[in-house]
Amino acid sequence: DLVSAFARLPGIGRKTAQRLALHVLKAPQQEAEALADAVRGARTNIAYCTQCFHFTERGQELCAICRDSRRDRTVICVIEEASDVLALERSDLMRGTYHVLGGALSPLDGVGPRDLRIAELVQRVQRDGVREVILAHNASAEGEATAEYLHQRLQGLTSITRLARGLPAGADLDLADRNTIAHALQGRTSF
Ligand code: ZN
Repeated sequence: DLVSAFARLPGIGRKTAQRLALHVLKAPQQEAEALADAVRGARTNIAYCTQCFHFTERGQELCAICRDSRRDRTVICVIEEASDVLALERSDLMRGTYHVLGGALSPLDGVGPRDLRIAELVQRVQRDGVREVILAHNASAEGEATAEYLHQRLQGLTSITRLARGLPAGADLDLADRNTIAHALQGRTSF
């Protein structure tokens, strides 16, 4: 059961699942119980922020970012998953708030606009007088389709920007693929 449970986690294959299960069995009792408690605690103590759908502690309607009065509520960065919030926060440059869509449009997988928190985003933009929506979708076909759709829905309501696509830090120009170079050229900024 433990091996199957680990194997269901994203990015964990059967072999890694077996290694993890073996580790849990060999670990001190306390360590194994702390893991079980952490999993249980995460599910019982964490809820979704009613404004941006990032995680919040149960009992707190708004997450720590939405509660922070120094944050600019008129700038919303739209992302696919809550883990993207952590990635963007690491940059220390985001002064606005977020909106977690809960995925990306994918007709082949049956994910349509109603399956994502798009209506809630449009409502926020209209209600809070939002100046800018930053589309920070993943560089995938689904991410692009979602950005196109949001652009149509939000056009005329607010100014819409998107993250630049281009060369990763530390990358050699001659090793970059054609798409990356094309995006980097299109997204060039004045020096
Ligand atoms: Zn929030």
